[in-house]
Amino acid sequence: MECIKITKGDFLKNAGIVGMWNMLFISDASQGVNKDFWVDEDEQVLCINREFAVNADWTDLYFKAFVETYGPVCTYQEILNRIKKCKEVIGKGDDNEKNKSDIKEDLKYITEKMLSNSYQSGFKNICEKIENPEIYENLKKKKINIKMECNEIVQRLSELETFIEQPLCRETFCMKSIIYNYINRFWNSKSFLLRANAAKDMREMFEKDFSKPLKEYFLKLHEKSKEYCIECNTLMDSKEKVSIAFMKDMADDLSRKRSAFWNCKVDAYICPLCAYLYALVPLGFRLIGNKFVFQNIDYSMEVMIAVNKAGKVDRKEAARQSEEKYTTWIARTLNTIFELKIAELKNIPVILRGTNADDRYIFNVLHKDVLKVLKDKEIMDDLEKLSKHPKVRIQNDFLNVYEAAVKNLINYNNQFRLINRLLKASIETEGILSRAVLVFKIQIRTFKITQNEGGINPMSVWSMRNSGYELRKAILSAKGVVSDECIRGTIYRLTNALSVGNTERFMDSIIRLYVSSKLDVPNGFIAMLQDRETFNQYGYAFILGLKGSHHVEKEENKNEK
Ligand SMILES: [Zn+2]
Repeated sequence: MECIKITKGDFLKNAGIVGMWNMLFISDASQGVNKDFWVDEDEQVLCINREFAVNADWTDLYFKAFVETYGPVCTYQEILNRIKKCKEVIGKGDDNEKNKSDIKEDLKYITEKMLSNSYQSGFKNICEKIENPEIYENLKKKKINIKMECNEIVQRLSELETFIEQPLCRETFCMKSIIYNYINRFWNSKSFLLRANAAKDMREMFEKDFSKPLKEYFLKLHEKSKEYCIECNTLMDSKEKVSIAFMKDMADDLSRKRSAFWNCKVDAYICPLCAYLYALVPLGFRLIGNKFVFQNIDYSMEVMIAVNKAGKVDRKEAARQSEEKYTTWIARTLNTIFELKIAELKNIPVILRGTNADDRYIFNVLHKDVLKVLKDKEIMDDLEKLSKHPKVRIQNDFLNVYEAAVKNLINYNNQFRLINRLLKASIETEGILSRAVLVFKIQIRTFKITQNEGGINPMSVWSMRNSGYELRKAILSAKGVVSDECIRGTIYRLTNALSVGNTERFMDSIIRLYVSSKLDVPNGFIAMLQDRETFNQYGYAFILGLKGSHHVEKEENKNEK
């Protein structure tokens, strides 16, 4: 079967390829070898059936995919949510002050957003193609406000709801938000994002600048063409070439490099297919919290697509995911990579871009040795437990322990500072101790993995914790108390000594403790003076025990073996 083969390129083109995949996946196109589109893993190319390509409506595909992907997180959805909420509150008939002021706030939001400049210009383009355009006109003339009768408010809101739920209204209003909040973070000054085209029909503008040239390019033979695409190196006519200046940052780079071009030509040109792929870049990146992220795994197209895949999200899900942090996302998407059973782990370049207009691309690398740690079964289990209750309150701050731990792993930091902070906080708040123990286990395991299963014997680490716990029991029972208030000061001093690596002060406190009890000083305290890592591991294990951590759970017993 004849097909169009798209080969990988730099990160922008790769993000475009993932965007293309996401777009086709959302559409009715059928995925599979020799169907409409598929990945040829041998050749490492994305294949698109030529017959499908020349018949497809590339504008329709583009618009539908963006509305599907970004619609749930844009203003349009929030307007609908607030309409529903207002109707519900009014329907219950409880007009207390709180409800009243909420409704007032919501009505203000709905009206303001509906009448924003971009929505108005969108409406102008479609008013002849939709039903009941007068509902929108009415909104301009007579705004919905809290002073109206309840029935009237509900009636107006219901009308508006039905009106904006028309498919063409939905698409237009969503796309207005999407192009000015998401797409323009990646490209600008072309098609519907050209300032002069702001009031024009978005679909028409996109068709003219991207889809039509793309189709003509597919239909044309280029044997006699003389120009090359700088991205994919294929032949094209000079009439077909597209300047890459519309891609943000690229244009900046080019103008800065002006003098580097021997002929002072600042522009570089790509073919209509690469231009279309570039237009799809915002669909290849995933929006995570306040960042767009893309994992540029270029050794396998299948994996690259899988880790960057955009799922269909509902509103609730979207809200939850938009709170998701970068580190959480890393930890979550890594599972996809592991599930795909890649024989050899390689470094993963990650490209980020903030959601602010003036943010630029940031390049990060997840190194393979970090990946090796993150995919360890025990580490994954402990991270999973931390992720269930990630936040702890320390004085007036909230600390996300899960993210802090992942961040340490990604940045090659050990976890001792975090453990130290949690331990100190647990002196006041007992509940934090369990989190300190989990992070400690992650540290012990990480160290073992990175030392190739050599290094310190975890068994002796856990026996240090037992010693700590035994000592605790002995001291408390000698004093006949249940609360550990009498040893808090000591725990604090020991934690401080550990954080600065002061062995003398640490040992001094330990000896005082043992002298006051009738127990023998465990041998571990001699071994721990060997080096800083042993000092930390044994030391923290001992304090965790002293603070009350001991093996009760089954899975903790496993560590004793
Ligand atoms: Zn090209």
